[in-house]
Amino acid sequence: MILEARNLLFDYGGSPALRGLNFLANAGESVAIVGPSGCGKSTLLYCLAGLLQPTSGTVLFRGSDLAIESDAARSELRLHQFGFVFQTSELVCELTLAENVALPLELVGSSRRRAATTARGLCEQLGLGDAMHRRPARVSGGQRQRAAIARAIAVRPTVIFADEPTGALDSANRSVVLEVLLAAAQSVGALLLVVTHDSEVAAALSRRVELRDGAAVDATGSNPVDGR
Ligand code: ADP
Repeated sequence: MILEARNLLFDYGGSPALRGLNFLANAGESVAIVGPSGCGKSTLLYCLAGLLQPTSGTVLFRGSDLAIESDAARSELRLHQFGFVFQTSELVCELTLAENVALPLELVGSSRRRAATTARGLCEQLGLGDAMHRRPARVSGGQRQRAAIARAIAVRPTVIFADEPTGALDSANRSVVLEVLLAAAQSVGALLLVVTHDSEVAAALSRRVELRDGAAVDATGSNPVDGR
């Protein structure tokens, strides 16, 4: 088991965003986290990634409880083991796409030259061609998302967390970026978790977890957690 959540509860202060949620995922899986807006999908993703601390319950990464790790250890874990892709790519605007992809490699200790070579290889693998030498403002949204995916897999993470990765793209780019994301996750053997409201994205992944009001529901709509 790579990632497990037990009885997760998350409260922003109003009604709980997660209410006793359980979740399991293995290496090599690709999991769509789906459900209506506001049902807790992003909150779940951020709790699983250790970016939000659950109000109660446990997140285990390879059997270790994220909550008992120090902040520094959690940051190290995110840097080495986790990759992130967001709706908009959040690239550093002063750097070229290839330089953006090289950044996490330098952060984990690669020399600048080695990081640059690996980054260029990844950009080629993801079909960026000459666009890799341009800054984010000079390329298309689809190319920016490819660069964000290349950056997410650069350190060969164990888990890739993606929050609406195709949400800001037009329909032509959506399918292509989805294919690139799946192939990229597969190329490094990562578990891929994708929050999405796009049924095409959900259908392309190996499994779906559906949330309703902060809890998981199974295919019949019953709630295995609290029996509603
Ligand atoms: P989803 O990703 O499914 O749209 P979220 O996880 O973003 O859902 O949100 C779940 C619930 O928590 C929603 O009711 C939302 O309004 C609330 N929420 C999300 N972020 C915050 C926040 N920073 N402060 C207060 N409430 C929040």
